[in-house]
Amino acid sequence: MTNVGERIPTLADLGDVGGKRVLVRTDFNVPMEDGVITDDFRIRAALPTINWLTERGASVVAASHLGRPKGKPDAKYSMDPVRARLVELAPGVDLMENLRFDPGEEGNDPAFVARLVVGIDAYVDDAFGASHRAHASIVGPPRTLPSAMGLLLEKEVDVLLGLRDKPAHPFVAVLGGSKISDKLGVVEALLRVVDSLVIGGAMCFTFLAAEGYGIGDSLWEPDQVGTCRRLLDESKASGKTIHLPEDLVGVDAAGNYATFGRSLPDGAKGFDIGPGTAAAFSDVIMDARTVFWNGPMGMFEDPRFEAGTRTVAQAMADTKAFTVVGGGDSAAALAQFRLDDEVDHVSTGGGASLELLELGDLPGLEALRHAPNAK
Ligand code: ADP
Ligand code: MG
Repeated sequence: MTNVGERIPTLADLGDVGGKRVLVRTDFNVPMEDGVITDDFRIRAALPTINWLTERGASVVAASHLGRPKGKPDAKYSMDPVRARLVELAPGVDLMENLRFDPGEEGNDPAFVARLVVGIDAYVDDAFGASHRAHASIVGPPRTLPSAMGLLLEKEVDVLLGLRDKPAHPFVAVLGGSKISDKLGVVEALLRVVDSLVIGGAMCFTFLAAEGYGIGDSLWEPDQVGTCRRLLDESKASGKTIHLPEDLVGVDAAGNYATFGRSLPDGAKGFDIGPGTAAAFSDVIMDARTVFWNGPMGMFEDPRFEAGTRTVAQAMADTKAFTVVGGGDSAAALAQFRLDDEVDHVSTGGGASLELLELGDLPGLEALRHAPNAK
């Protein structure tokens, strides 16, 4: 456990929970289609904490948000399907209605917090995926109640702060996906701790443009070219390598599948890294001792453009390095290739894992550190 982690109360710091009513903030924001849960991973991930509490005689009431109901009740985002699955897995556990049915949740309204903690004796945050938000259910209860991080949150903090503070070198970060400007902050923070950075996905085009290559009509963010240029210069000055694609796969101006070198002609779109790049990225991953991967290497949802992501995922499975994957779509890609059991840690939080890596802290952790029972 890291220094920051040590000051956060854990379940044992709640003392005797027998006969107590404990509010557990979980991340039950599960994927649903037509009212049916398509993956209950997030519900199962909360069971160790729930069982820890109930085995010691506590009664548990769980609370979560689901989707984006915009501060008012919306049957589409009802917790009923989640509650039905939860009672199958953990009989006797209560589940509140969707926290975001009340504007007080996202608004961090003290009156909403007061209603949440009525009849509650202790609070546990096990919602890593929501702990980067200063919402009522995350930062409110620890102001007044004995509080702790749950086992899932503790594992996430341990792994991700471990990457930040004491990674085995070489430490490589592999970044891709489509949320470019969202992720440039973490690129900057990672450059301080990694030995090299591997960039694919739509993220690569703003960097390639900054290097002067043609990117056709690929996804990019023109206003971030300056930032990418500066990051490329800084990495050179500090002796770190930023690996960019040397070949690309996508469609030509007529919309037909095509392979390209590093430069794309006008009208072409890059949707995946090419086979030469995928092999080069794999070599970097195989030679590393720590790898953090966030963001698919291409539009892997389309079988024509999944090869780069599949090759990188396979290298993550094969390398002897300690491997961590963050990001909803990256985790989905791993699961699609049935490699999710082959990496050391798949984070349950996308934005939260990046923010913890970037800043070394989260609003939810900060709140727990100031709880009445914190040492
Ligand atoms: P994560 O959820 O793992 O953090 P993001 O949400 O940032 O990842 O990005 C995932 C999305 O990026 C996927 O839907 C994928 O199709 C898309 N993507 C990856 N590469 C490209 C590309 N070259 N062009 C367009 N979209 C891409
Ligand atoms: Mg995503």
